[in-house]
Amino acid sequence: MAYDPDNIFAKILRGELPAHKVYEDDATLAFMDIMPISRGHVLVLSKAPARNILDIDAADLARVVAVVQRVARAAKEALGADGVTIQQFNEPAGGQTVFHLHFHVVPRWEGQPLRPHGAIKADPADLKRDAEQIAALLV
Ligand code: AMP
Repeated sequence: MAYDPDNIFAKILRGELPAHKVYEDDATLAFMDIMPISRGHVLVLSKAPARNILDIDAADLARVVAVVQRVARAAKEALGADGVTIQQFNEPAGGQTVFHLHFHVVPRWEGQPLRPHGAIKADPADLKRDAEQIAALLV
């Protein structure tokens, strides 16, 4: 399948749709998932026009994975989490719903189950607060 430049995340990257940004550099953008499966759920995108891990250039993948690590460390510390789960889905059969390469950084607390994937909208005020707390550790 070809990359669709009108997917939701491409529009966020172009500034055509809003997002609670956590981190940005020349190759990556990180922002809060609006339907988090856990408090502090961040999406880390490559700015390269790739659908997923199956078509992204290896150098672009390396850049985004390095930021996934930084965001995971920052989210865990900022929110006082016990651990972090990283998720990444590819094509509909792999569970992907937005077809622009991204990683999920999901802070975890002992004994706390995850909410369903992409199902329950968060309060924007909570997203704003958590984005600011995580971003403060990424400057
Ligand atoms: P995936 O199934 O890996 O493609 O995940 C897509 C994720 O994007 C889901 O977790 C959704 O909750 C999230 N999502 C969808 N639209 C937006 C949006 N406008 N801003 C932030 N996150 C979004």
